[in-house]
Amino acid sequence: MAEKVICGGGDGAGHEAHWRDDRTCSFCGSLHPDEFMTYLEASTDPESPVWIDQTTKQYKRYVNGTDRSGIVKFYTWHMPDQAWVDRANDLHRHSVIVSQSKMARHVNSALTEAGVPVADQPAGDVVSFPGKS
Ligand SMILES: [Zn+2]
Repeated sequence: MAEKVICGGGDGAGHEAHWRDDRTCSFCGSLHPDEFMTYLEASTDPESPVWIDQTTKQYKRYVNGTDRSGIVKFYTWHMPDQAWVDRANDLHRHSVIVSQSKMARHVNSALTEAGVPVADQPAGDVVSFPGKS
């Protein structure tokens, strides 16, 4: 019997749902919070392929670089408790910084494959040398 969960997705009402075999919510498709936390931890490791996209929506995160297929997402209505939130916030700043450099590498390697010269690719926050006067 699958573990049941009340999902606050969509209209915000509590929907009876369950965790599917792949540990995603049967109502909204969100990752289980334990799965997301494992990916969030991995995303802080520069050697891990996993990176987190903050998205423009506060209630949603995308997880990239996993061996799952399709869009891997987490919705904040599945946050279990304050201890989870505190742990996520501790990891998040580190995750964002490491994830941004991973994202930049993905973009640049995709552009290189598409034949765009390195000189024309985004370089992120490059601080120029000061001019000589
Ligand atoms: Zn859900």
